[in-house]
Order: sequence, then C-alpha cells, then structure tokens
Amino acid sequence: MFTSIDPATGAPGQSYRELTGDEIETRLARASAAFRDWRVTDYATRTALLARIAEQFDANTHRLAEIATREMGKTLKSAIAEVEKCAAGFRHYAQEGPAMLEPRQFQGATATWHPMGPVLAVMPWNFPYWQVVRFLAPTIMAGNVGLLKHASNVQGVAAAIEEMVIAAGAPAGLFQNLPIKSDKVAALIADDRIVAVTLTGSEGAGMKVAEAAGRALKKVVLELGGSDPFIVMPSADLDLAAKTAVTARIQNTGQSCICAKRMIVHADVYDAFLEKFSAGMRAVVAGDPMDAATDMGPLSSEAQLQTVLDQLQMFREAGAKLMFGGEPLPGKGAYLSAGILVDVPADHAVAHEEVFGPVAMLFKADDIDAAIGLANAVPFGLGSSVWTNDPAERARFERDIEAGMIAVNAMLASKPDAPFGGIKRSGHGRELGPYGLHEFMNLKTVIG
Ligand code: NDP
Repeated sequence: MFTSIDPATGAPGQSYRELTGDEIETRLARASAAFRDWRVTDYATRTALLARIAEQFDANTHRLAEIATREMGKTLKSAIAEVEKCAAGFRHYAQEGPAMLEPRQFQGATATWHPMGPVLAVMPWNFPYWQVVRFLAPTIMAGNVGLLKHASNVQGVAAAIEEMVIAAGAPAGLFQNLPIKSDKVAALIADDRIVAVTLTGSEGAGMKVAEAAGRALKKVVLELGGSDPFIVMPSADLDLAAKTAVTARIQNTGQSCICAKRMIVHADVYDAFLEKFSAGMRAVVAGDPMDAATDMGPLSSEAQLQTVLDQLQMFREAGAKLMFGGEPLPGKGAYLSAGILVDVPADHAVAHEEVFGPVAMLFKADDIDAAIGLANAVPFGLGSSVWTNDPAERARFERDIEAGMIAVNAMLASKPDAPFGGIKRSGHGRELGPYGLHEFMNLKTVIG
C-alpha cells in the first residue's frame, strides 16, 4: 500500500494499493493495443483530445490543487498556478503541435515524424502535475501512448491525472497510471512493449533508469538535479535582483531543480546585496500551505526535512556558517525556516550538494571570471540566472556558463514553448517545445 502523509500535519491521508504483477501485465498489453490505434490517428484527433484534457484541468483546478497540497505540502496558491500551467501546456501542444511535425525537405529527401510506441515516465513529487504533463502532452501529440510511475508520496495526484485523461474521452490505454514501487521499473524498461523512458528526479534514480535503458538499448531522457547559480553584477538592478533571489530560492519550499541555490555576487555589491537579500529571506512566512498569506509550506516529507538538516550539518562541519534560518519550526509538520549559508568552501565536496530546501549559499566573486568559475564549479549544469545590464557581460555569461538554460535579469522558470533540460550531471535530452516532442519520435528519412 501507498499511504499519503500530509507533511503539514503528519496526518495520514488516503491509501492506494500497489499493482500486482498480473495487473501490470494487463496494463502493458492495453498500452500496446492502444498504440496500434493511436499511432494512425490524424493530428486533429490528437489536438482535440489535448484541448479536452486542458478543459478537464480547468474544470477541476481547485480539487486537483488540494490533492497536491495535502500530499506534498506546496502552498495551495502555487498548486493552483501549477494546475493552470498544465492546462496551458496541453493547449500549447494542441495549438502548435501540428506545425512542429511538419516534414522537412532536403535535396532529394524528406524527413518525416512518426510515433515510436508506449513511453514510460518515472516522475517526482515536487511539481506532481506539471512534471507529468510535460511528458504527457507531447506523448499524445506524437501519437505515442504513456505509462506513469509516479513518486510514492503523490499517488493521489497520479490517480487524478489518469482520471482527467479518461474524463476527456481518451481511448482506453492511451495513458495509464501504474501505482508501483521503484523496484518494478527496471523490468518494465526491459519489456519489449516499452520503447523509451523519461525520468525526472535524483541522480541516483537517473543512474538506475539509464542503466536499465542502456541494457535494453532504449532511448532515455533524464532531468536530474541542479545547483543553479544566480549571479549578480554591479550594473544590475540590486533591489529587483535581491527580491527575485528570495523567490527563486524559496519557491516550492526550495524543492525545485531550477531553484537558484547558489548566489554569486560581485564584491563591489556584495554587502548591499546581502543586506537586501537577508532582509527578504528573514521575512519569508513559513506556515499552513492552505493559508493564502503563507509564502512557503513544509518540506514534502519528514524524510526530506531530515535530508536537508543532515546537509546543513555537513556544511557546518566543512566550515560554512549558517547566518540564520535552516531551523525546523516548533510543532507539527516538516517545516524549515528560510536561511543563508556563507563561507562555504567552494573547493570542498559540500559545495557540490544540491540543497532541496529553502537555504541559499552565498559566494563573493572578485570579477566576472571568478563568478563564472564558481558557477561552473559543480557537477550540475541545469539552469542559471544572471543579473547585469552590461551587454559584454551578458554575452560572456551566455557563452561560458555551463548550463542548459540561462535567464537574464529574470528568474528561471519553465515555459511550455521553451526547451527545458540540462547538461553534465543534470541529465540529457530536452523537454517542452518542439524538442521535447521530437525526443520520442522516429525521424524517418524518405528518399525519392
Ligand atoms: P527520487 O529520484 O528518488 O524520486 C524520483 C522518482 O524516481 C520517483 O518516482 C521515485 O519513486 C523514482 N525512483 C527512485 N529510485 C528509483 C530507482 N532505483 N529506479 C527507478 N525509479 C526510481 O527523488 P527523492 O524523492 O528521493 O528526492 C531525493 C533528491 O532528489 C532530492 O533531495 C533532490 O535533490 C532530487 N530531486 C530532484 C528533482 C528534480 O526535479 N530534478 C525532483 C525530486 C527530487 P519512489 O518515490 O517510489 O521512490
């Protein structure tokens, strides 16, 4: 059984039964059968279904958002925004999908896009709807079918997504939720009926899934962790940079792969930035995620809270100083206050940690070379945010930051139309936009 635990109270919620081996087999067979029909549908059929799924998300926004808040603690207002973004994601592919699948002409050849088959998605709890939708919307547009192994703590969300797809009139087997534990994933990947796999989550899970995909010679897209730099140069609008840095660090209680986790500030503006940033971080209101006045709910579980507390202990042992925050709140719930770490030894292994909680690392850089050096001194390469009004500096950052994404004078956020993904140990492949659609398609060359 999976039992949801509300991280705001520790109270157990609904329980969900794990599928038996026979039930998994039935769903695989159903996925295969659904693909035989779905692969030959025309684009109008696919876009109409995407539009109807968007309508279902719109019609159930509040109920869906509450399930997420109860299962993983995000504020209700951010859960509502996430569900709305999902509807926008389905609509994006409904509107733009056909144009993304236009054949490309070459001299003497045409390249045409074709579906591949049932794709397995292994997804995390932090954006429990959106992470799934950015796989599911392009899957439907491609003519593929989808199977979901969602994180154990968000099985209510997983069931709700399946419910929305069925209510929108999808054919049986087009999208199926598999309430299973992670020890069942490797066998699924090895199964001939699964053609590819996509995972969002930790490096550890990524390595296991990539290993299983490698053994079966199947394509894999990995969206793993990040420790994104947020670089502030003297020409930046400091007030806006400091305010945005707070949001970029504490959004989703710090549990986003593209949270700004390492603030790297030019020495000339370090003190001024620190004053503004620390005032903002101290003012963050942690509390009941259902309350509209709350900035930040609890962490997703007691286990996640303990992980962050253990990391903070490692930082202290390595010589870093916790200026303030990073403390569990009294009473029930997996709450942690927002905080700032300074004096983190940049060459110590601890500086490579991804802190999935609302505590920022702050570094001082003497010049742009030092800032870029610090930014790139981690094994990750997911996102980044740079703050400068100097065009030459901007060009340097765009060229030299080792990341899949860079936001200039803005907070990095995913958008349905922009490719999303990383390099180095943050994974490979891209989600969203046309690239996310093409990842699991067969680009067939037709000569003559
Ligand atoms: P995991 O990577 O363990 O979970 C993500 C998904 O992978 C879940 O569905 C999980 O299932 C599944 N999974 C875990 N291990 C395996 C495996 N061996 N084979 C197949 N599937 C597997 O993330 P955690 O929840 O444990 O979080 C740990 C850390 O991962 C965080 O602190 C953060 O650093 C990072 N993370 C990054 C995310 C991102 O957005 N890039 C999202 C979530 C976490 P199950 O829940 O059943 O274990």
